[in-house]
Formats: sequence, structure tokens, C-alpha cells
Amino acid sequence: MDELDANGHELYAGLRYPWPQAPDSGQVREVAAGVWWLRMPLPFRLDHINLYLLRHDEGWVVVDTGMNTDQTREVWEQVFERLFGGQPLLAVICTHYHSDHSGVAGWLAERFRCPVYMTAAEYRSLYVAVPEASPAGWDFVDFYRKAGFTEEHAGELYRLIQNGHFRPLHFNSFRRLREGDRLRIGARHWQVVIGRGHSPEHACLYAEDEGLLIAGDQVLPRITSTVGVHATEPEADPLRDWLTSLEHLRQLPDSVLVLPAHERPFFNLHARLDQLQAHHQAHLALLLASCDEPRSALELMAVLFPTLSGRFDELMALGETLAHANYLMAEGLLVREHHQTHYRYRRGPRTQPAVAAPGGGQALGSATTLNIPGSQPVALQESQCDRQEQQ
Ligand SMILES: [Zn+2]
Repeated sequence: MDELDANGHELYAGLRYPWPQAPDSGQVREVAAGVWWLRMPLPFRLDHINLYLLRHDEGWVVVDTGMNTDQTREVWEQVFERLFGGQPLLAVICTHYHSDHSGVAGWLAERFRCPVYMTAAEYRSLYVAVPEASPAGWDFVDFYRKAGFTEEHAGELYRLIQNGHFRPLHFNSFRRLREGDRLRIGARHWQVVIGRGHSPEHACLYAEDEGLLIAGDQVLPRITSTVGVHATEPEADPLRDWLTSLEHLRQLPDSVLVLPAHERPFFNLHARLDQLQAHHQAHLALLLASCDEPRSALELMAVLFPTLSGRFDELMALGETLAHANYLMAEGLLVREHHQTHYRYRRGPRTQPAVAAPGGGQALGSATTLNIPGSQPVALQESQCDRQEQQ
């Protein structure tokens, strides 16, 4: 039995959860005045996404939408009827372009003739993320061949991502969100806080007065957001962006109630940021320690993720492995060489004397340290756009 405090909050793995139970699938719960948590089903092992519905004047604003499925639309119909009570949807906000967040933004916008707010990089990503062409292009196959997969295997991965569920409905215009923008929604002001690494320009919303943070996938409890390198940008270094973003979020007070897109709302933001950073440090160390002999990305994936079930897991796990490998290459700790059809990774020339890790644990790679972003905190900008207050 997990521990409960005097307020009935659940204490688990260093975090405090005010609601020990999530709403049932398709149901809502009010988590702050005028802020409703909707548990939207997803057709995956991760079987839900949390959407947040915000009262605004004579209508509603929604943050994220669910995936492009009939089930999603059915749940929305019930929400319109039972919660909205005939009032309109006035705006859609998408934290980022991933299909569980933006899947039916186009449908909602069309139905209510309302604007969709998101960052520019996320909007553009909608139009490149899911390739239309079939079969896979040479660069897609090349990417997976170099990682150690066969051409046939690469083809299977390609067919998987062409699934229509991953294809959000298009919409032809958007309103741009930028770092520091302030949105008035109902009686509250929400400040846009941008994170990167999980997606290109992910928007979180922070209500300073009440200490609320709608975090999207930028901070999740218990599970970690994927940070991956994929075929569209093989030389990307998203882990660097991600770790920098964790430090950016650390500028927010530890006391905020985090409203995440998966799992349950929680307190102890800073502890969670520590945990996420430690998770990636451990993966970096493990990857480095596995490269005394040259290894393919496929072999390294099996070290980092020994239990994978199915092709979708492989797609995510390989992306994550390459994110850590690219980070280490940029640090000079790993080098990559061509070997027959694929790349092999081995330790690079840069080494430093061993430094004891905090708490007496082993230092990374036992003989190296890493330049993890964090020593130079990024300050939250003052609002750039007060005059552009948006609904
Ligand atoms: Zn996401």
C-alpha cells in the first residue's frame, strides 16, 4: 500500500499526488477552479492522455486533443454535451505536434470555427512528421541500415509509422505561441514556457499566481518522455536540448502543481527534474561503458533496453539510443566509424580523471565526466507579448 499523507495525498517515489485515482477513461475532474482534467483513452499500452479543459468567459479552451480516432471523437461529443452544456469551444491549444496531443485539433477547429494555438516549430512538424510516400525513401532505409537493421526490418518500421492514427488531421492556420507569451484564459494568466528535446518547441503553460503548470510531455511523473533521433534528422542532438530544458523548468517554483499529459498531477517538480536528469545520466554512463569494443546502434539498443516487445518499442528504443550516442559524440567521448553496412561506436579520445559522483556512486563511465547542461541556468524571460493577450 502506498503511503498517504494527512491530506490524503499519495506519496510515491519522491512525488506527492493529490489524487490517488485518475478519473475513469473518458471522464473529467476539476483540479483547480475552472480547470478540468479529462482522461482521454489511447489505443496503446500507454492507454490514456490527460487533456485540460479551461473555462473562458462564455465558453471553453482545451489544451491538447487526443489521437485521431473515432473513440476520441465520441469522448469529445460527451464532453460537449455534459460539461460544455451548449457553450462553445473558443480555442484549442496544442502543447506539441505529437499525434496524441494534436490528433483532432483540426476537427475541433473546424467544428467550432476557432483558432489553434501552438508554437511555429510544432505546427510545421505536423506536416513533415508522417511521411506520405510508399515505400520508404532511400534515406529512411539508409538510417536504419546504418543502425544495424536489415532493409526488410526498416520497411516494417516504415509501415508501422504510416498508421493513420499517427496522422493528425490537418488545419490550415494557427496562432503562434512564443516563450514568455501570456494568455488570459478566464480569470487566469498563463505564461508560455518552452521546452525542447522531446519535440522541437513544446509549450507548457504556467499560472504563477496559483502555482499551476500544464506540462504536456515536458515533465511526466513515473514514466519518461521519449527523446529520440529519427530518420528525418539523423545527426540531431535532442538530448542536449532536453537536459537544457530540464534546467529551464527548474526556474519555476518547486511548489507548483504539475498537470502532466500522462499519469497523474503531482507536486515536487524539482525532485522529478532530478530524477529525469539522473535517468539520462545513467543511460549515458551505461552506453559509454558498453563501448570498450565497437558496437552497432542495434547492439547498444539491446543493452539500454533489454526487454522490448514489438516494432514500435524498437522504433522508440533505437531513437533513444541514438540520442544518447549523438550526445556522447558531440562531447568527444564516443566516436563512430563505418563498418561494412553500418556504423560502430567506440570510446573516443576525450577522457578526464574519474570524479566521484554525488552520493559516493561511480562516476560516469568510471573514467569520464560529462558536461551536462545545468551549470548555467536559463532564466525565464519576462513576458514579450503583454499587448498581445490572447484568449
Ligand atoms: Zn509527445
